[in-house]
Amino acid sequence: MEALVGSLFSAGERVLVPVGGKFGRRWVEICGAFGVEVMTLELEVGEAPSPEEIRNHLNNAADIVAVLLTHSETSTGCLTDLRSIGPVIKDVGIKQGRKIICCADCISSLCVDELSKDEWDIDCAIAASQKGLLAPPGLAFVCLSSEALSRMKTRASSGYYFDLRRYYDDVCRSPFTPAVSLVRAVRESLRYLLSLGLDNVVGANRSAAEGLRRIVEHAQFRLVARQSSNAVVAFWLDGVDPLAAARLLREEHGIVVAQGQGETLSGRILRVSPIGKSKSSLLAFGRAFEATMAKLGREFALDDIMEELDRTLEGSRLWESQR
Ligand SMILES: *Cc1c(COP(=O)(O)O)cnc(C)c1O
Repeated sequence: MEALVGSLFSAGERVLVPVGGKFGRRWVEICGAFGVEVMTLELEVGEAPSPEEIRNHLNNAADIVAVLLTHSETSTGCLTDLRSIGPVIKDVGIKQGRKIICCADCISSLCVDELSKDEWDIDCAIAASQKGLLAPPGLAFVCLSSEALSRMKTRASSGYYFDLRRYYDDVCRSPFTPAVSLVRAVRESLRYLLSLGLDNVVGANRSAAEGLRRIVEHAQFRLVARQSSNAVVAFWLDGVDPLAAARLLREEHGIVVAQGQGETLSGRILRVSPIGKSKSSLLAFGRAFEATMAKLGREFALDDIMEELDRTLEGSRLWESQR
């Protein structure tokens, strides 16, 4: 994210950033560090920006050079409709006789939710090794359109290690010592994921996310996101202590779930990731969740929806068959 902002935009230029959670906010903070001006589009928690909102904001400000989006907002589990928004950004640019660069943080969506960078007119997509790629943390990937590339080449350089021009000039090697062990780990991951088939992988993550949402809703908790991503299922714990629930899940069942991040969400929600979870581990989560919630005074019986889960979770058998 930092390499992209530092390599593509100059201090004083203005970008549009929809903020629906911690990672949208991070774009704003990084821009601040580089003196890049930001027009924010503040969203309700769990909301994604609509194509109309983006169009209106761009129509009202002819000096916006780029829109920085968050495909899957991991703090809320909300998915942004890039398929509709990319073409809107391109269209406004054409009408205004200029190029508006569309950037998307796809760190938790690559291999997890459907993503079609070129068809959806995304100029810059970024990803990282530790989410849908199922590898250790430490590597980031940046993919640029020819328009983004020509913008990058005309900027005065800023930064050193994170100046993307250095990597572009030396594209088949690396300008600095690369994290060789991580590159190899990602290669193994990619071989595995491609042997399963990318569509099947996305399908397995979708099926796991649907199953998790069904368990949570059956326990009568409300989802945070209006438009759900497959990367994380976040839900309000109304009346139940999320810290106590997370502690019981960890200590009694060996299951780690994440807390909410930031002022509005910390201490109020839990987040569970479906990425790469097999059918049996999802059912084990369901049972552990059932037992944990019963201890905390919220009774529900998974038996009632077992048949339904059996069907919903079928896709996530993928992870079991290939081990
Ligand atoms: C994980 C993630 C990042 C990277 O965050 P780190 O704090 O560096 O792990 C950025 N954006 C999104 C949407 C993410 O899910």
